[in-house]
Amino acid sequence: MPFANFDTSYQSLPERFYTRQMAAHAPAPKLIVFNETLASTLGIDAHDPEVLARVFSGNEVPEGATPMAQVYAGHQFGNFSPQLGDGRALLIGEIVTPTGARLDLQLKGSGRTPYSRSGDGKAWLGPVLREYLLSEFMHAAGVPTTRALAAVTTGETVLRERPLPGAILTRVASSHIRVGSFEYFAARRDFDGLRALYTYTRDRHYPGSKTPFEMLSEVITRQVSLVAKWMGLGFIHGVMNTDNTTLSGETIDYGPAAFMEAYHPDTLYSSIDQFGRYAFSNQSKIIVWNIAQLASALLALEDNPEAELPKWQALIEAMPAQMEAARVKTFGRKIGLSAATSEDAALIDGLLAAMAKGQADFTNTFHALTKNAKPRDQFLEPRLFDEWQITWQKRLSQEADPIACMEAANPYLVPRNHRVEEAIQAGKVGDYGPFHRLLKAICAPYSEAQEFADLTTPATDENAVRQTFCGT
Ligand code: AMP
Ligand code: MG
Repeated sequence: MPFANFDTSYQSLPERFYTRQMAAHAPAPKLIVFNETLASTLGIDAHDPEVLARVFSGNEVPEGATPMAQVYAGHQFGNFSPQLGDGRALLIGEIVTPTGARLDLQLKGSGRTPYSRSGDGKAWLGPVLREYLLSEFMHAAGVPTTRALAAVTTGETVLRERPLPGAILTRVASSHIRVGSFEYFAARRDFDGLRALYTYTRDRHYPGSKTPFEMLSEVITRQVSLVAKWMGLGFIHGVMNTDNTTLSGETIDYGPAAFMEAYHPDTLYSSIDQFGRYAFSNQSKIIVWNIAQLASALLALEDNPEAELPKWQALIEAMPAQMEAARVKTFGRKIGLSAATSEDAALIDGLLAAMAKGQADFTNTFHALTKNAKPRDQFLEPRLFDEWQITWQKRLSQEADPIACMEAANPYLVPRNHRVEEAIQAGKVGDYGPFHRLLKAICAPYSEAQEFADLTTPATDENAVRQTFCGT
């Protein structure tokens, strides 16, 4: 039986969209983890760890797969790079699942490609385990995301500031088409390429939309909903460059991504984000900026772009209000309001302001509210909470089932930075116990499992992780 049902439609696009490429040879691949549940939805029926290690290291190309690196461009921290691309990733192929879904299978860290620039195309264990944990948590928490199918060590040492164990993540995505994919063709004025990419993306993700404009407005709906979900979990993506913004509306590329502990709107972990462009509360503004880049690229497909411009501009200009409505809905549910509106914004922001002042832990405060488990203790100055609570209680009296609403919106735990770091440090010396334990806990993030109570504790001054890195 073949490994999976490969059918790579992206290769029906012109050759300038990608380069066929093989993975670098991994000297001694070893399987760390394999997502059996996800594998079975993909129709993968392989279980032998040695076979899996060969496939997920790229040493063995499964029957029917035709690996390639995709080209794209992107705005990185606001500056346009006309050519990026899969510099440390290989798209092994698209799998058509037993239920007919089409999903990309991608290795991340599998060696150089024509788009590697000065990089080595490799990854070390840290970012591989980090992305595995964060993306599987996001999925379990109900956030659209790429998934993690497997992680292997390669048996090779990769050189960063220090020698580190090489590793490869296998991820699954609805596709890897990014805002930057459209920017690539638009910037070169390759309008045939742009149109081919548009048609392909529409057919794959938005079959109901009839025009580039309609597709754009559907992308907006998905991305607004996505960023609202991120913020509702205290998630900070960290590198919201346009090449890390998908057309499918899935979260992608967990480089320096992290979950906030003490709430503050300016929270930022990424070591390379000097000016806080991608700080927590900026994410709702940046997504508008990123979508504006997509709009400029797509507008070029119109016969008369100038005549169309006002309509397109209006669509982008409506985004901040849409984003704000989504944010209010999301945070409304976190305080038990089933359908919060702009009238509830002051109540929500009142709590957030108190949390910022009181250095309240994001996850634990909302969980304590849900369980009525002394939420005031989460605040350095509990009276900040007491004042807010009076208005909250009044508003709650209009709600039918606030507890159910909060239970569905407020997880018991998230993969805290210092726990992810602990899993990585243990993994570096070959102990994957902490990784597997954390993975098990975050795969059921809403269930209050006492065995994982220690994972809900915020970091201390000693073990706090204050900076995260881009994952190269
Ligand atoms: P990121 O912002 O981490 O998604 O990466 C931006 C670009 O840098 C992408 O085109 C990556 O493929 C490329 N890149 C990142 N790390 C490496 C690496 N170790 N080797 C080659 N290319 C890399
Ligand atoms: Mg990226």
